[in-house]
Amino acid sequence: MWKFYAMAKLTFLGSCREIGRSAFCLEEHGESVLVDQGVKFVDNPVFPDRISATGLQGVALTHAHLDHSGGIPLILSRNDVSLFCTPATRDLSTLLVEDMFQIAKARLPFAHKDIALVHRRCQSTSYEETIPLGREFELTLFNAGHIPGSAMVSVRANGKRILFTGDFNSIETQLNAGARKNLPKHDIVVTESTYSQRLNAKREEIEAEFIQSVLEALERGGTVLIPAFAVGRSQEIMCIFEKCNLPQKYTVYVDGLARMVNEVVAKHPGYIASPQSFERALKRTESIVSDKDRLRAVKNGGVIISPAGMLKGGPSHMYFKMLYDDSKSSIVLVSFQIPGTPGAELLAKKKMTVGNRTYDVAADVRFHHLSSHSDSAGLMDVLEKIPGDPQFYCVHGEPDSCDALAKKLNDIGRQAHVPQLNESIQF
Ligand SMILES: [Zn+2]
Repeated sequence: MWKFYAMAKLTFLGSCREIGRSAFCLEEHGESVLVDQGVKFVDNPVFPDRISATGLQGVALTHAHLDHSGGIPLILSRNDVSLFCTPATRDLSTLLVEDMFQIAKARLPFAHKDIALVHRRCQSTSYEETIPLGREFELTLFNAGHIPGSAMVSVRANGKRILFTGDFNSIETQLNAGARKNLPKHDIVVTESTYSQRLNAKREEIEAEFIQSVLEALERGGTVLIPAFAVGRSQEIMCIFEKCNLPQKYTVYVDGLARMVNEVVAKHPGYIASPQSFERALKRTESIVSDKDRLRAVKNGGVIISPAGMLKGGPSHMYFKMLYDDSKSSIVLVSFQIPGTPGAELLAKKKMTVGNRTYDVAADVRFHHLSSHSDSAGLMDVLEKIPGDPQFYCVHGEPDSCDALAKKLNDIGRQAHVPQLNESIQF
C-alpha cells in the first residue's frame, strides 16, 4: 500500500506524555529509519509497542541513557542493520545495557549475546557529519550537550528536515559543552519537554551552593555521600571539585558503575568540554572496588560519589547505612528525585526506607539540582531560534510538561502539538 503514497510518515512509538521508551520511526517509499529505542524501567521493563518497520535501513541513537537506548539490542537482533551514534554513546550504552541485563535478565526480550551487537553494528558517527542511509534518508548528528556523546539527530526525508532533539542542555557545564547553537533550518522538530515548567538558578550559583554544602560537612569532620547517576552526573561532580580546587586533603572516592564510565569518558576526550580538566579530576579520584574499600572510605572521611542517583540501590545503600546516624556527615542529592524513590522520601521526610526498615536520618540532607537538561528558558532559547518555522512535537516529559511546552511555543506564534502514543503524521 505504502508505495502509492508520495508522502513520508513519522510515527511516535514512545515517550508520548511520559518519560521513558523514547522511539520514533520515519518511513518513505518502503524504507524506514528508527531514532532511539528506549525502555521504561520502573518495576518491569516496558519497550515501545511496535518495534519493527518495513524496509528498515538503520537505527540512530541520540544518547546512552536507557530510556533512549535500552531496546537497541532487541532491534539489532531482529534486523540486520547498522546503528548510528557517536563512539562515546556506543560504549556508554553498552555499559548501561549490560548493567540493566544484570538486574533484569529474565524479564528482557533479548539475550546477553545481543548486547555485543551495539558495538559490532555501530557505524561511529561524529557531530556535524552527514551520512546517506538507504535510497531515501540522510542523517546528521549535532552536539546535544546532555551527557558525553549525546546528540540531536537530524534526518532528511522526502526533501524535508526532521530534528529529534533527544535530551539536551542549552548551557555549558563543567563536563559538557552546551547544545549546538544556531541549528540549521528544519521543517519538523520533535523536542524533549522534561523541565518545561522549571526555571533553574544560574549554574554558577548552584555550583557555589553545592560546594558550600560539601565543605561545611568536611570541615566539621563528616563524610559526604553524593548519590549520583553513573553516566554524566558523577563525572560532572568530579569536574566541579577540580574547578573549585577542593583541598587535596579531602579524598574524592568514586564507586560502582561510575568507575567504568570514567574509563569510557577518558577514552573519548572529543566528547567532553575539557579533556584536560577531566584528566586532572580523574587523577585526584580514588576508585572503590570492594566492601573493604567502602569501610575505609567512610572511616577516613572525604567525599564519596556513588550510584544510584535516587538511592534506589547500588553501593549507595551500604554508605547510607554507615552514615545515616552521623550528624557530622551529609547526604548531598544532585538530581531531581522522582516521587516514590528512596531519595524523594529522604528529601521530604529526612527518613529513608531500605528493605523493611525505615531509618530516621541524623546526617544533614541537602539538595542541589545540577541538571543536565535545559530548563524552560533554555528549551525555548534553542527551539525558537531554529530557522524554517518548524512544526514542533513535544515529547519526553510528564503530560503537564509536554502540554506546557506546546503552549509556550503556541504563545509565540509557533505550531506545536503533543502527540499520542503510536500517532503518525504525514509530510
Ligand atoms: Zn538522557
